[in-house]
Amino acid sequence: MLGRGGARLSVRALMTASVTAVAALALALLAGALWTSRTVSRAMREAEEDVWVLAAAQQVDLTLREFHRLANLCVATGEVEVEAARRTTEEELGGALARLGVVAQGSQEARLAATLTGHVDAYLRARRALEARGLPLDQLLPALRPALERVIASSAAFQDAMRANLDETNAAVHDALRLQAVTVGATAALLVAGLAALGLGVRALVVRPLLELRDTVGRFRRGDEDVRAPACALREPHELAAGVDDMIATIVQQRRRQLEFLAGVAHDLRTPLATLKLQVQAIERQGAPVTPERLRLLDRQLDRLSRMIGDLLDATRIEAGQLELAPADVDLRQVARAVVELYGPTTQTHQVTLSCPDDAVLVRGDALRLEQVVSNLVSNAIKYAPGGGPVEVRVSALEEEAELSVSDHGVGIPPGELEEVFVPFRRREAAAAVAAGAGLGLSIVRRIVAAHGGRVEVESAPGRGSTFRVRLPHLPAPGEGPTA
Ligand code: ADP
Repeated sequence: MLGRGGARLSVRALMTASVTAVAALALALLAGALWTSRTVSRAMREAEEDVWVLAAAQQVDLTLREFHRLANLCVATGEVEVEAARRTTEEELGGALARLGVVAQGSQEARLAATLTGHVDAYLRARRALEARGLPLDQLLPALRPALERVIASSAAFQDAMRANLDETNAAVHDALRLQAVTVGATAALLVAGLAALGLGVRALVVRPLLELRDTVGRFRRGDEDVRAPACALREPHELAAGVDDMIATIVQQRRRQLEFLAGVAHDLRTPLATLKLQVQAIERQGAPVTPERLRLLDRQLDRLSRMIGDLLDATRIEAGQLELAPADVDLRQVARAVVELYGPTTQTHQVTLSCPDDAVLVRGDALRLEQVVSNLVSNAIKYAPGGGPVEVRVSALEEEAELSVSDHGVGIPPGELEEVFVPFRRREAAAAVAAGAGLGLSIVRRIVAAHGGRVEVESAPGRGSTFRVRLPHLPAPGEGPTA
């Protein structure tokens, strides 16, 4: 049988720990995904800004080159349309420079943008001064070259710096994306592994033991009485298995007891039947006289049979919860007196005596059932004192209870077996050698007394005798006197 002790992890604790771990992993996954996506989006925003700055710088470069071309054409031709286009382009150049100033926010970008703007301003100023002097194009261009080259060089430096920035930002975006993939992938893998471990754990620690338990119950149902539930690592399945084991053991024990009981009943019924048969055969075949003594013997055997069958019927009724009482106010003295008068004459070796108070000892109950209780106790007292001796029946009124006791000087009951005698079909081996019986009388007594709201107690010393006490709720009667 499985032991119940030992500290075992409970299913609830395991599930709480597992769900907490899975929830923590899920949270980590979420936090990792959030953090990495923020990193990625920041890197992408930076890349986008770099692209805008680069585009603005390229726009300045292109517009300046267009302005330079138109201004040269204007100097060469002096046409009005070209002059108008040159003014428009110069305004566009101013707008492109202003946009560059707005988008170039970083310190390096702002510095480079300021240099470029300064060089463009210098070029425009130099151009205006040279044109004011009315120089022809072939003299103006060489004079303007240094300023133009400074503009082109600073524009190229600006664009190179922006491209380098963009490369760096791209690399940062890639790093962030890789980090996101690694973080989310690793946490997701952990989460999947955790869920798989949880599933496997539940299968091994809960599902498999339950299936084994189901097999155990199935094998027991098919008749295997030696089957036992498997040990389980978790507390609840283990307790369930221990409960199933207990149940199997109890059913097996009950079945054995019932078989023993049937064998005992069959054996006990055969004894009076055999005596009856012998006596009837003696009369029939050998013409033995039908003396009053022989008739009394036959009558006693019939009584014994009828009592045993009555006990069996009572026991089955009580087990089925069909004990019906017809309650009335009953004087316990009268019940005791009737039983003493009935049993007194049946024995030569015992002195059955009654002592009771002068006043009625009233209880609320079924007189016939109470008589059955006292009869059982008195007949046991006679049965289990085979050497004879006094059998004392006492009725007394206590403060709130009425007490009826039956004492004998018989074989007695060992202290360890005092409770056993009230268990149905339980007969002490030593007592079985002394007298016949089905082992039902005292269990019926206890049930009847309990149905009356009372209790039965026993006091006994092996070899010295026993006293059975029945205590019932006492009905106070007007004029009730002191107990005798
Ligand atoms: P039965 O007498 O038919 O065996 P009971 O239920 O009346 O059944 O008694 C149960 C057991 O209690 C008896 O087998 C006997 O061992 C013990 N017992 C009952 N009354 C006495 C008694 N007065 N003295 C000693 N043993 C007793």
